[in-house]
Amino acid sequence: MTTNLSIEFFPPQSAEGADKLRLVRQRLAVLKPEFFSVTFGAGGSTQERTFETVFDIQREGHPAAPHLSCIGSTRPYIREILERYRAAGIRRIVALRGDLPSGVGTPGELRYANELVEFIRAETGGHFHIEVAAYPEYHPQAKSPRDDLLAFKRKVDAGADSAITQYFYNIDAYLHFRDECAALGVDVPIVPGIMPIVSFSKLARFSDACGAELPRWMRRKFEAFGDDSDSIKAFGLDVVSQLCEKLIAAGAPGLHFYSMNQASATLAICERLGIGG
Ligand code: FAD
Repeated sequence: MTTNLSIEFFPPQSAEGADKLRLVRQRLAVLKPEFFSVTFGAGGSTQERTFETVFDIQREGHPAAPHLSCIGSTRPYIREILERYRAAGIRRIVALRGDLPSGVGTPGELRYANELVEFIRAETGGHFHIEVAAYPEYHPQAKSPRDDLLAFKRKVDAGADSAITQYFYNIDAYLHFRDECAALGVDVPIVPGIMPIVSFSKLARFSDACGAELPRWMRRKFEAFGDDSDSIKAFGLDVVSQLCEKLIAAGAPGLHFYSMNQASATLAICERLGIGG
């Protein structure tokens, strides 16, 4: 089966972490992903590590897609980053607003992701394939579902080529979002973001923060497993593999894995799906 895959990492915090991530990438490379993407923290401290990871990936011969967020930043700084990526032969960018750590910094010169997309297009024309974020369960700060949908449309109108969604476990949310986009004439590929489940407590905390819903039936089952991490992993693998199967059957244009810098869970799901390896 051919399904376009992409896999996301966050920049490791140390040289040791970078070595570990290289091994993770080696394992994941058997899936022949379209690209590996690397997140970018708003507000500074981890940004150098994003650059290092992106260039590492490129040196290994894999297509790399850096994430770039605009909140708290300036046009000259973003221009400098774009030039650096262009000079290095990077062809794809995931353009985001980002989130400032609470109480830190000011919004900066570009306030929303559509302004960043517009800026990238103005500065670099068609050089980069631009990905943007989409939220099938709506962004937690959106005034209304309609406003969020229109904000997504603005990013596409500004020049985004495709989108990657926030993760979700309720396929109807994705299908509904896709239908709503189609009704608005937004026809870029919207690739579902897939979060493998390896630990329930972490996932529950994270989901609350980013506004992704963990359906009650899943929550109840995970809670009932308590500390039984093997059962959590096995059930997580079933649930996420089935979600992916349904998404592919429903015509999703690809799958984007939030790897959390681990190889095993993504590989296990892809093995179930008969992809790669
Ligand atoms: P936007 O599209 O700008 O939307 C942000 C909010 O503002 C939404 O609620 C929207 O409805 C609203 N909005 C948009 N335009 C307007 C307007 N004109 N007026 C009023 N409201 C408006 N974060 C990082 O820091 N680094 C990363 O690397 C990173 N990678 C991500 C990758 C993916 C695939 C996804 C889905 C998210 C990622 N995030 C990352 C998280 C993301 O930065 C946050 O969700 C952030 O809060 C919103 O970013 P955005 O690009 O979706 O913003």
